[in-house]
Amino acid sequence: MFHPPDARQVSRTPADLSPVPLYRPTTVDEAVAALQESGAAVYAGGTDFFAAVRQGLAPQALVWIAGIAEMKGASVADDVLRIGALSTHDESVEAPELDAVPGLARAWASIATVRIRNQATLGGNLMARRERYELSILLTAVGATARMAGPEGYRDMPVQDLWQADLTSTPLLVSVGVPLRGAPKLDYERSMRPTFTQALCRRGESLRLVMATEWLQPWFTDAALGTEPAEMLADLPEDFSDPAVGREHLVRAGGAFLKRQTARLEAIA
Ligand SMILES: Cc1cc2nc3c(=O)[nH]c(=O)nc-3n(C[C@H](O)[C@H](O)[C@H](O)COP(=O)(O)OP(=O)(O)OC[C@H]3O[C@@H](n4cnc5c(N)ncnc54)[C@H](O)[C@@H]3O)c2cc1C
Repeated sequence: MFHPPDARQVSRTPADLSPVPLYRPTTVDEAVAALQESGAAVYAGGTDFFAAVRQGLAPQALVWIAGIAEMKGASVADDVLRIGALSTHDESVEAPELDAVPGLARAWASIATVRIRNQATLGGNLMARRERYELSILLTAVGATARMAGPEGYRDMPVQDLWQADLTSTPLLVSVGVPLRGAPKLDYERSMRPTFTQALCRRGESLRLVMATEWLQPWFTDAALGTEPAEMLADLPEDFSDPAVGREHLVRAGGAFLKRQTARLEAIA
């Protein structure tokens, strides 16, 4: 998430954005070249971008990536589900390739509003780096990697590392890849949002649990199938609390959800 350096710099409307050069690349290479300009920012669906402008983001050039065909669509090859960063929420859940991870399309279909789902992209959701956005939770649960591009080429990193990574040399998210080994399947519990949400992925005999709140970056843990909920949640950091919910409640509610989620995953063929 973009944090304004000084609260007095907060813009009142997007009209506060000064005129800047606009680049409209049609390839990843062109986009990466345009992003070398000082102060250049990526613009995808634009649903978050102007919120960042209102918070003080002042780009010196815009790189509007919507025309890059190689960053759209989904495919399955070499035991990896790959989804282009420019896929909108709606396009993603409608892609038959998502059936490779049972439960993923259903979980993804539960986020955002009709208007946003039609315009907002996977890349924008992850790269806005806002705690309350949910694709980081789902994609961390399924063990996804982010493919970043820069002048030196591509770099793959776990989606959860995007929160802290220095992306100066690889500023463009091109796609995400979900490994299909072990036949992953996903359940997402969202009934307590915005207080907290929880994703559970089963891959063969292993589980990955991800918990997040509106204010806290996703926390995840890996365990063997059959591990007791209390044991899985025992490592939740002591300071995993926010203004709306405390750790003790999260452990209790998360454990109750975990039992239901495990049963639901059992029911998925
Ligand atoms: C009313 C509303 C409701 C919402 N509800 C939900 C919800 O329930 N759950 C949820 O998870 N989200 C929700 N969202 C968030 C929404 O999913 C994001 O705003 C959206 O995914 C951002 O995508 P975008 O293409 O519009 O990004 P943009 O606004 O174009 O960009 C967002 C940020 O990401 C950067 N960026 C975009 N693409 C790339 C890329 N490929 N590489 C590098 N940087 C990039 C941009 O520079 C910018 O900083 C909601 C948003 C709104 C406005």
